[in-house]
Amino acid sequence: MPKPASRPILPYYLIAALCLAFALIAGWTPLAGRIDNYHYDWTLRLYPPAEPALESAILEIDDLTLLKYGGARNLRRTLALALDKLAPARPRAVAIDLILAEESGKDQDQTLAAAMSRIPNLVLSSDLVPNADQWEEPYPLFRPAAKAVGHVHADPDRYDGISREVQLEKAGNRVRRWALALEAFRLAHGARDIIESDADLKIGGIRIPVPRRGNRGRPMFIRYRGRPIPRVSIRQLLEEPGSARKLTGKVVFVGVTSQSQARDRLMTPVSTITPMPGVEIHAHIYETIAQKEYLWPASNVSIVLACLMLAMVTATVFAFLTGWQAYGVGAIQILWAHSLPHLLFQSGIIFPLLAPAASAWLSVICCAAWQYSVTRKQLSKSEADRSRYQQAIHFVSHEMRSPLTAIQGSSELMSRYNLSEEKRRQIAQMINSESKRLARMIQAFLDVERLGEGQMELKREPFSARDVIIVCLERARPLAEKKRIQLDAGELSPEELLGDRELMEYAVYNLITNAVKYSPPETQVLVTASRKGDRLHLAVRDQGIGMDEKELKRIGTKFYRTRGAEKSGEAGTGIGLSIVHQIVEHHGGRMEVSSAPGRGSCFTIIVPLHAAKPAAEVKG
Ligand code: ADP
Repeated sequence: MPKPASRPILPYYLIAALCLAFALIAGWTPLAGRIDNYHYDWTLRLYPPAEPALESAILEIDDLTLLKYGGARNLRRTLALALDKLAPARPRAVAIDLILAEESGKDQDQTLAAAMSRIPNLVLSSDLVPNADQWEEPYPLFRPAAKAVGHVHADPDRYDGISREVQLEKAGNRVRRWALALEAFRLAHGARDIIESDADLKIGGIRIPVPRRGNRGRPMFIRYRGRPIPRVSIRQLLEEPGSARKLTGKVVFVGVTSQSQARDRLMTPVSTITPMPGVEIHAHIYETIAQKEYLWPASNVSIVLACLMLAMVTATVFAFLTGWQAYGVGAIQILWAHSLPHLLFQSGIIFPLLAPAASAWLSVICCAAWQYSVTRKQLSKSEADRSRYQQAIHFVSHEMRSPLTAIQGSSELMSRYNLSEEKRRQIAQMINSESKRLARMIQAFLDVERLGEGQMELKREPFSARDVIIVCLERARPLAEKKRIQLDAGELSPEELLGDRELMEYAVYNLITNAVKYSPPETQVLVTASRKGDRLHLAVRDQGIGMDEKELKRIGTKFYRTRGAEKSGEAGTGIGLSIVHQIVEHHGGRMEVSSAPGRGSCFTIIVPLHAAKPAAEVKG
């Protein structure tokens, strides 16, 4: 495993920043809105509020009531009977969640108006006619009995139609109304007015921290309770003498709960299959205010900051830790992102899930993937280094064996046999030249290795290309003669090159010996050097085995040998050409190869001439 400190850490922060941007954009899409809503509903059910003594109760007009008391047509008379029974029970306030806007028969209406007048704290309902900007007001006959009129709009969510919030104030046609439950709360607490500021409302010294939010009015999250609000049906009230007691001292919400008649039913976070009737929703709104169980949505700034923190901590973790340590902390980050909405919910803050979760998941996955790829790269680099080292050993043992064998053999000859002076001199000369060749080879090899690693500066001295070619031709001649190959020099331009003569000699010698190695007997190898513009074209042409297009593309890659070369029985390592490439490149040149299978090859080194260089560049 590479040392973490040696890794560049900036990419982790860049990756985390990209993930953060993506998570934030994704977090504000409608789909994210739905996911966050779904998560909010779940959280609301998971952490129900404490169950103190509730202040409210529902007086419901259920199916049985309608069945027994003349149905919807006789509703006002039934309501009047119920109010008459309710009055002696002394409720704190009564809020009627029925829009009693039109006349429905003089007798009925007058009876109801009279019953209403016996209720001290009565709130009636009104609502805005859809698309008409017009309030549907209570019928004037009923109005005097009511201490207040409240609006009965529960605003369902625009994505999924679930009722989560209520607008405590609603304006239309230049009339502004408080919510029914809020008016009931005011009357129940004996307050004359609702004192408002941008930040909150005050009712008889009780602060309701629901700020005004521009044209969204004053939205307040409804803290739906796990347990249902106590209910008494009108039928029970009228028929069971003791039932009125259940409503004593309560704020009573009167409304229709009948499956067939209640048209104001809405799905809520606590509804399972059947939607909740409007009257029950009003009771939940009331209890939210009465029990001070407010929920605040987290500010956008805090959401962005939390996501930023998650992404940056993840980046830091992966920049400085590796392996299971990093993955472990990454998993904790993800866990933390998922728990954040739960923890904050306990303090009444609604925090979205998707943006922080996406930020944590994305940054952990991407940073981990990046770390993995970096580690893999480092691993394969060190593997490549190792195999290069092994190949280098291979090269040394193969390429250097022939001069060593010659030296060994000759020295043995000298020590074992009585040789003539002439022969001894010849052998000594051979030992001398072979050992020099070996030294040169070692030097060239080490130089090229160091060149490749950028540790060595190339020698820069002028030398004659023609001299280099002649020396190499002479050195390779015995090899060529052995294979009866004719080694010829064609045009040899006298121009000088600038660079490292030893290295260039190595390159040219390698090309000539390759040409000899990969050619059949009785063929010719021709070496030429001609000036073209400010470049020298040094070509080694043979009539050998050649190679096809595919092989042409690959030669020069370290350790690559063509199939023809393998089959030829000639020893080789596939490293020489790659060294030639490096040498030529370090001389500011390039190499071109043309070849066809069975029709020979031509390797051309194209290097700048010394004369083409400005004199200042020439070093001694
Ligand atoms: P080596 O000759 O030791 O295998 P080189 O790096 O010098 O390694 O050459 C790489 C490969 O390129 C050779 O193995 C051979 O397949 C191919 N090659 C080089 N020169 C010639 C040539 N003149 N004709 C045909 N193939 C050649």
